[in-house]
Amino acid sequence: MQASAPITQDVMTIPRKTDTGGKTNLVGLTREQLRDTLIAGGTPEKQAKMRVNQIWQWIYQWGVRDFAEMTNLSKAYRAELDEKFTVSIPEMVSKQVSADGTRKYLVRIAGGHEVEVVYIPETDRGTLCVSSQVGCTLTCSFCHTGTQKLVRNLTAAEIVGQIMMARDDLGEWPEPGVGTGESGPRLLSNIVLMGMGEPLYNFENVRDAMKIAMDGEGISLSRRRITLSTSGVVPEIARTAEEIGCMLAVSFHATTDEVRDKLVPINKRWNIAELLEALKAYPKLSNSERITFEYVMLKDVNDTDSDARRLVKLIQGIPAKINLIPFNEWPGSPYQRSDWDRIEAFADIIYKAGYASPIRTPRGEDIMAACGQLKSATERARKSRAQIEAEVNQGE
Ligand code: SAH
Ligand code: SF4
Repeated sequence: MQASAPITQDVMTIPRKTDTGGKTNLVGLTREQLRDTLIAGGTPEKQAKMRVNQIWQWIYQWGVRDFAEMTNLSKAYRAELDEKFTVSIPEMVSKQVSADGTRKYLVRIAGGHEVEVVYIPETDRGTLCVSSQVGCTLTCSFCHTGTQKLVRNLTAAEIVGQIMMARDDLGEWPEPGVGTGESGPRLLSNIVLMGMGEPLYNFENVRDAMKIAMDGEGISLSRRRITLSTSGVVPEIARTAEEIGCMLAVSFHATTDEVRDKLVPINKRWNIAELLEALKAYPKLSNSERITFEYVMLKDVNDTDSDARRLVKLIQGIPAKINLIPFNEWPGSPYQRSDWDRIEAFADIIYKAGYASPIRTPRGEDIMAACGQLKSATERARKSRAQIEAEVNQGE
């Protein structure tokens, strides 16, 4: 791991260019969109396929942002590209490194909005927790992001750009000519769509960004190393299997509709029975093994032995693992974390019923980077709703 000694609360300001200066950004385009964009910009149709392959590899395999460095293209063509296009990712405004090595990035996107991205190093992998929206339209009562109104959906460029930014910071792009994965174990090996926002309410952009991340001629992450977490947007679940094919996690959190209505209000729209129905089909449709059921442990709310037993019954017949998440507190949060012996007793019941029941170790709590603690700094600074709305209108 190239990270130097962990430093807590170290805030760095790293200015980077994001202004596209009126040029079209090539980041975030699917291969087909890139082809059309190049042709519209004057690339002869006959050459387009080859040019897409070349440019794609420079951008996503080797992390090159400057057309001048794309040395297998003629000098004249590079100059032409530079006149019309840009290769831009969101600007990293600051980085905090936790005592446990977790890195939290604050990222600024067009319109001046900010989202948080978290990198979690582990011994055998490194996971990037990516955001899909600024804020969230949903209002799960235990989630910090849920207290921030939705400002806007992120574009595909802004989503895949978070991965590219993290690879920049980790120094993980291979040298031009070297294949991805040839330079040893990957620091950034897994993606979880568990940052700010509900990914299935921004389906197309999330899909396009993940397709880019999975493309074998670029970032080349296997679909099994990408996990999308949803609060339960039932109509989009089958589509996730068909059009993305990544692993699925679902924020389950309760075993009765009465409690789930309060914790995850989308349950009033699609209740537990409807959610389970959609989940049953997922592993087959996506050719993936198991669904992860996320379950936040809230003291005296959803953590009894009866809850554990009900949970096991509900998920019967679904290939599953249950990820228990000790509640992470945030300023003003209305719940408490269940006691450790309670969490362990709950895990034990699930384990004895034949399911893996890992307890998620909270990471980066000292820098407010743990699950459910993310919220953009703009909001934390208590900007008024009117101010935020005015910015959105300005930025789009
Ligand atoms: N919107 C998506 C993904 C983002 S949240 C979703 O809801 O699934 C990622 C996970 O963190 C979800 O399971 C969410 O319920 C959980 N979470 C939210 N707030 C939390 C908190 N304060 N403590 C622990 N987990 C939390
Ligand atoms: Fe939104 Fe997920 Fe938080 Fe619920 S848990 S408010 S869906 S980010």
